[in-house]
Amino acid sequence: MAVYLKCIPLTYKQSIFDINYQHLKEQGIKTLFFDLDNTIIGYDEVELSPSHVRFFKALERSFEVVIISNSGRKRVEPALAKTNLKFVWHAKKPLKFGLKKALNMANGQKSETILIGDQLMTDVLGGNRFGIQVILVRSVKRKSDRLITQFNRKLEKMIIKKIKNKRPELYDERLKAYVNDHAV
Ligand SMILES: [Mg+2]
Repeated sequence: MAVYLKCIPLTYKQSIFDINYQHLKEQGIKTLFFDLDNTIIGYDEVELSPSHVRFFKALERSFEVVIISNSGRKRVEPALAKTNLKFVWHAKKPLKFGLKKALNMANGQKSETILIGDQLMTDVLGGNRFGIQVILVRSVKRKSDRLITQFNRKLEKMIIKKIKNKRPELYDERLKAYVNDHAV
């Protein structure tokens, strides 16, 4: 399958709080993977807010939840210190290594797992390569993107252009709002 086809998410949402988790549960989803940076908190925030902590506590009553971050342990561990969330750091998305590790931690099945993240080139591509579906969310704060992420965003622009040309119906349905939301 061509790479650009693996960069198409299942759907796009404004934030992690706008996903219908009840619906996912009814569809048989048992495991949720979340990216950390710019999906849950911005790069300039050091830890989850009290409302985030409550949100994940509630979510853990219905799902196995694992945070999968490409950031290092020094970033991820303190960010999640007030939670009991499982996590994988240096996950190297879009490689499969970190996702495989997380699936083992959750004792989950690919077909019953959803990844939620803010980047096409790491989260969406990584999840789809691994064989799990991905919900794309609006970046918490695009301006706090790190250098490597800014580079990925350039690649992303090229990929999106290709999707728009080759699969306009999927672009309109799943990526158009994402592009509009992040246009500077
Ligand atoms: Mg991210």
